[in-house]
Amino acid sequence: MSDKNAKKLLFTRQEMFELNKKILIKRGVSIESIAEISYQQQSKYTTDISRQICLESVEKILSLRDVFHHVQLACEIDRLAEQGKFEGPIQDIIYADLGLFGIDETMGLDVSGLYGTIGQTNFGDIDVNKHGIVKRLNEAGKEEGICHTFLDDIVGAIAAAASTRVAQVMNEEIANEEIGVTRLSIFDL
Ligand code: MG
Repeated sequence: MSDKNAKKLLFTRQEMFELNKKILIKRGVSIESIAEISYQQQSKYTTDISRQICLESVEKILSLRDVFHHVQLACEIDRLAEQGKFEGPIQDIIYADLGLFGIDETMGLDVSGLYGTIGQTNFGDIDVNKHGIVKRLNEAGKEEGICHTFLDDIVGAIAAAASTRVAQVMNEEIANEEIGVTRLSIFDL
């Protein structure tokens, strides 16, 4: 009999980031492709942002415990649905990505909500307009044997959270400059 307590349940931020990166790549998503959505979204509102700051923002978000649990679960649900491993009607509903099934969006709202209402409205924009990798995932998910029902929302939500975080970091820097405080590193926030 396995001892539940003997299992590794807690991971460091670095481990969580690495595990998230690994499972996303396994599912066809690079960190750069998520950062590109954040960049495209935030550069409409904030001038002088770089792809690098968006990439750092995505990496930071991927190291958060709550996001770790969401990413790992979302990727596994899609994989199991591809393999027909669920029982009952939920197997077909998830595999078909039924339009009226909204639990994938709930997870997306949860992740993007880490950065407040703006994070969630940014997620809504990505969800509706399907930018970059989200569009590619959505289209690939219609093919036989592929399920991206949860992945597209999680990826969109990470991009939205990262985009919102960039705006917050940059505004924090402006506020600090106004009172003469040295620039903060993005990792201080
Ligand atoms: Mg979906």
